[in-house]
Amino acid sequence: MGHRMWVKFVLVLSLLLCCKSSLLFADGETQPGRDPKQPVDEAYTAKLRKYTTEPSFSSPLVDYLPASKNVPTPEVVLGDVAGAPGILPYAEDVYKYMRLLEKATPRVKVYAIGTTEEGREMIAVAVSSEINLKNLEQNHERLAKLADPRTIHLDDAEADKLVAQAVPVYYITGTIHSPETGAPTALMELAYRLAVDESPYIREIRDGVITLITPVVEVDGRDRMVDIYKWHLAHPQEFYPPLIYWGKYVAHDNNRDAMAMKLKLTQNVLNTYLAWDAQVLHDLHESVPYLYDNTVGDGPYNAWVDPILVDEWQMLGSRNVADLTKFGMPGVFTHGNFDTWSPGYLMFLAAMHNGVSRLYETFGNGGADTRERTLEPEEYARTWYKPNPPLPKTLWSQRNNNNYEESGLLASLHYFNENKRLLLKNFYLKSKRSIQKPSEEGPAAYVLPADDPRASVQADLLQVLLKQHVEISRAATAFEVNLPPKKEKKKPNSAEGEEKAKTAPTPTTRKFPEGSYVIRMDQPYSRVADALLDYQYWSPKDPQTTPYDDTAWTFGEMFGVQVTRVVDPKVLSVPMERIAELKPAGGAAGEGTIFAIENHAEPAIATLRYRLKDANIDAAEESFDAGGHKYPRGTFLVKGIASADLDAVMKSLNLHATALTAAPGVKTHPVRAARIGYLHTWISTQDEGWWRLALDELQIPYDYMSTQAIAAIPDLKAQYDVILFPPIGWNSSPTSIIEGLPTTWGNALPWLNTPQTPNLVGKNDATPDMRPGMGWDGLAKLREFVRKGGVLLTATDTSQFAAGIGMANGVSTTPADKMKIVGAIVGTRMVDSASPIAYGYDEKVSAYCDNGPIFSVNSVLGGRRRRLGPEGGGRPTGRGTKDDPDFVVGRAPDQIPDQPEHEVWEVPVPTDEQRHNNPRVIPPSDRPRVILRYADEKELLISGLVDGGKEIAQHPAVVDVPSGQGHVVLFSINPIYRGETENTYGLVLNTLLNFDSLNTGRKDAEK
Ligand SMILES: [Zn+2]
Repeated sequence: MGHRMWVKFVLVLSLLLCCKSSLLFADGETQPGRDPKQPVDEAYTAKLRKYTTEPSFSSPLVDYLPASKNVPTPEVVLGDVAGAPGILPYAEDVYKYMRLLEKATPRVKVYAIGTTEEGREMIAVAVSSEINLKNLEQNHERLAKLADPRTIHLDDAEADKLVAQAVPVYYITGTIHSPETGAPTALMELAYRLAVDESPYIREIRDGVITLITPVVEVDGRDRMVDIYKWHLAHPQEFYPPLIYWGKYVAHDNNRDAMAMKLKLTQNVLNTYLAWDAQVLHDLHESVPYLYDNTVGDGPYNAWVDPILVDEWQMLGSRNVADLTKFGMPGVFTHGNFDTWSPGYLMFLAAMHNGVSRLYETFGNGGADTRERTLEPEEYARTWYKPNPPLPKTLWSQRNNNNYEESGLLASLHYFNENKRLLLKNFYLKSKRSIQKPSEEGPAAYVLPADDPRASVQADLLQVLLKQHVEISRAATAFEVNLPPKKEKKKPNSAEGEEKAKTAPTPTTRKFPEGSYVIRMDQPYSRVADALLDYQYWSPKDPQTTPYDDTAWTFGEMFGVQVTRVVDPKVLSVPMERIAELKPAGGAAGEGTIFAIENHAEPAIATLRYRLKDANIDAAEESFDAGGHKYPRGTFLVKGIASADLDAVMKSLNLHATALTAAPGVKTHPVRAARIGYLHTWISTQDEGWWRLALDELQIPYDYMSTQAIAAIPDLKAQYDVILFPPIGWNSSPTSIIEGLPTTWGNALPWLNTPQTPNLVGKNDATPDMRPGMGWDGLAKLREFVRKGGVLLTATDTSQFAAGIGMANGVSTTPADKMKIVGAIVGTRMVDSASPIAYGYDEKVSAYCDNGPIFSVNSVLGGRRRRLGPEGGGRPTGRGTKDDPDFVVGRAPDQIPDQPEHEVWEVPVPTDEQRHNNPRVIPPSDRPRVILRYADEKELLISGLVDGGKEIAQHPAVVDVPSGQGHVVLFSINPIYRGETENTYGLVLNTLLNFDSLNTGRKDAEK
C-alpha cells in the first residue's frame, strides 16, 4: 500500500474507532487505545498485565502490545517483557535491541552520537513514519531556518510556511541518574510501540512527529548499576554496595553540568539536540511517587527564559497531568518543590536554546525488584496541586514505572503533535526574540577585553560558550561604548561625602582594545550567553525557602575574568569577525637564558610546571621591574630550556613568557611539581570527582587512593609531598571518615571487578569492602605525614575533619546557624599576599560558597571565638557621657591597661594572663596563618542568595596551619566545583607548587 492510500485507510479507520471507544476525550479528539483490527501479542500482553500490580497503574495506551510479524519485541533481547522483575539490561543490550528495530522497520534509525569518558557509545534513536525518516534532510532544512530566523530575514510569513510543512522533533533522554533504572526498558518498548502500533492515536504521533530517544545518557553508570543489581540478585539476603561511582567523575551531579559542560554526556546530548533542531528535551528521572512531571515545578523561574516558554511549560505539564488522570492513574502532578532557577540541569539545555525543557520524576525501586513501598505522609497527602495523590502503601514494580513513563510520554507526544504548529511557531518566535534581544530587553553584547591579564582563563570561559554553540566575534579595531548611567547613591550630608563624589566620578564610557571578544546578543543562542554571564539575585524574602540547587553562577566572577555587560547598541556596529575556534595566543618572546612568566593564578601555569619537568622554575617572592615592565609577586622565572621549546609549550597553554636580560634582584624559591596523593572516601565521590576532572584536564598527575589505603603505606612522606583530601559531601563527620560504616554487623560491600561485575571499577578505585573508613591507623599515618613535612589540603567537610581531630591547631569550625548562603558567589579578601598560596591574586577574590563551614582562629588551644554581633558592650553605666571614662568615688582614676585589639580574621596575640603557666598557648611559629578571609557583611554578596551573612563575614576562608614540619591548608570555600570555579583553582595549585616554601613571607607575632 502506498503512503497516501495508507493515510486514507487509517483516517477512515480512526473515524470508525472514534465512535466505538469509550469517550475519555472530547468529541473530535483521537481516542487513546488499541486498534481492534491489529492483532495483539497475547503472550507479551499477558505478562505486562501480570507484572502491573494494580490495574490503575496502567493505561489504555500500554495495557497491550500490538503484534508484528517482522518487528521484534523487547523480549528478544530481555528474555521477558520490558519492566519485568529481575531484569535490567546493560546499555549494550538496549542498543542491540534498537539496532534490531532499525533492521526490521524503516520507521527506526539509530545514530551514534559520541562516547563517554570511559569510551562507551552513546546513541540516539529516531522513530517516525518511513516518509518522515526518508525526508529527514529536507525537513531539517526547514527546522534549521526556524532555529535561526536570520536565514529568512526574520520574515514571519516565510516562517509560517515552514511551520506548516515542518515535522517537529521531540527528544527524550533516559537514565542519566544511574540508580534510577526504569527508563531504558520503557524506551525500548516505546520505540516498538511508535514503530508498530496502528491505533490512530499512535499513528498520528508517528506521522506527525520525529521522536528522538537516547535510552541511556549515563552509559558508564548504567553498566555499573546493572552489575550491582546482578550482584544483588546473586546475593538476595545481603546488603548490596551503593553505587559509589556513576560516570568516571561525578555521580548525581552529572545532571548539573549544563552550564560549564565538562562531561561528555552533556556535550553529546546538546550536540544531538541542536543538530536535529529539536523542539523539546524531555529527561527521565525517578524519585517521587508516581509521576511528578516537574515541567511546571515551582518558582522562582529562571529569569532569562522567554515567557513563551513559561507558557509552554504550563500548557504541556497541565495537559499531561489531565490526560493521565483521565486514564485513572493516581499520583500524577506537575507543581512541586522543584524550582526552575538554575540552568544547570541537562534538560535545561533546551530552555537555554529556544526549545522546551521537561523532566519526569517517576517512582522507582532502584533496580527491578518488586517491593512493598510505604510512603511518607507528605508524599501521599492530598494537596491543591495533587488532588489524586499516590497511595500510602502499595506493591510497586518496575513494570508500573514503565507504564507511567510510557503513558506520560505517549500522551505528551500526542498532545505535542496536535499542537505542533503552535509549538513550531513558538520555536521560531523564541529564536527570533533571542536575536532581537539587543533592541528588546538588552543587553546588546558582552565584551571580554583583549588585554585581560588572565588570557588562558578567558580562553577557557570562551570555550564554554563555544560548547554551548554561542557565536563569538573578535573586534577588528579598538572601540568605545557608553556605560549605563549609574544611579547615584544618596550621599550622607557631609563634606567627606561630597568630596568623594568630586574626586571619583563614575566612568561613563569604556574603551576596549582591538581583538576584544564580543558576544553579540543578536544571535539565536544569545539567551544562554546572557544567563551565564549575567549576575543573579535571589531575594532572602523569596517565598521559595529551599533552593533546589545553586543560586548563582555568574561566569565572569567564577572564572575571574573581565566581562562587561554592554547595553549601548553601538557595540554591534564595531567591525568584527566571527571566530570558528579559539587560536592559542601565547608564546615566548625574546632570546635569553631566563624567562619571566607573570603569575595571575592561571591554572595553566601549574600545567606548565608539570610539563617542563627538567626546567628550573623559581618564584619571585616580591614584585620587580624589568625591561620597563612591572612583574607581580609570584612571577615564574624559568631557566634551562631553549626558547623554541618554551615557545611551543607556552603557545599550547595560552601563556606568555618574556626573556629577561638578567635575573631580577629579588628573593626567589624553587617551584616544584609536588608528588600528589589524592584521598577519597567510600562514603561519596560526588564532590571530589570535580577535583579529579580539573586535575586531569590540567594534566597534573596524582595517585588516587581511598582513606582505607593509607594505613598500609609504610611511609606516606617518602611517597608524597602533598595529600589532597577534597570535599566528600553530605557534610561528612570526622567519625564517619575514620570509622566508615559499621562492620560489626552485616556483610562486606565489595567494589571489585569480577566476572559477575565486570564494569564496576572502571578507571577508578576498588576495595573488597566499602565499609571501613580511614581507621585509627590510617589517621596516625596521616598525622605522621604532616609532622614529617607533608602538606595536607582540605576543603569544607574535610576541613572540619582536620580541625576536629586536632591536626590544625588554633582553627575551630562551626556550622552555620541561621545563615543561608546557598551555592552563591561571595566576596573574599586577601589577608596575607606574601604567602605563596596567594600568588597571582589581587585583594578581592570572588569565590563559590555553600554555607561554610565557619572558621575561627586562635592562639590558644581549645579557644573558640565566633562573632555573632558587635563585640563588647561599650562602657558600663556610670558618670558622664557615653564616651567618658568612669570613676570610682574616693580614688584617682585607674590606669586602664592596653588590651591588644584584633580583627575577626586575625589570630589574637595571647594576653599576659593567658600566657601565664599555660601549655595550651600555641607558639607564634605554629599559629594559623590566614591567607584569605570572607568580605565584610555588606560586601559578601556578589551573586545569588546570601542571607544572614554576618555569621561568616570576615571569618577566615583559607588558612595555612603549620603542624610539626608540615602544613595543613584548610579551605572553607569549595575552590574546585563543577568546572565553574577556575578563579579559585589557583589557591589549590599554588599550594601544590609551593609545598616546600609555604612559610615564605610569614610574619610571626613576638609573643
Ligand atoms: Zn534523577
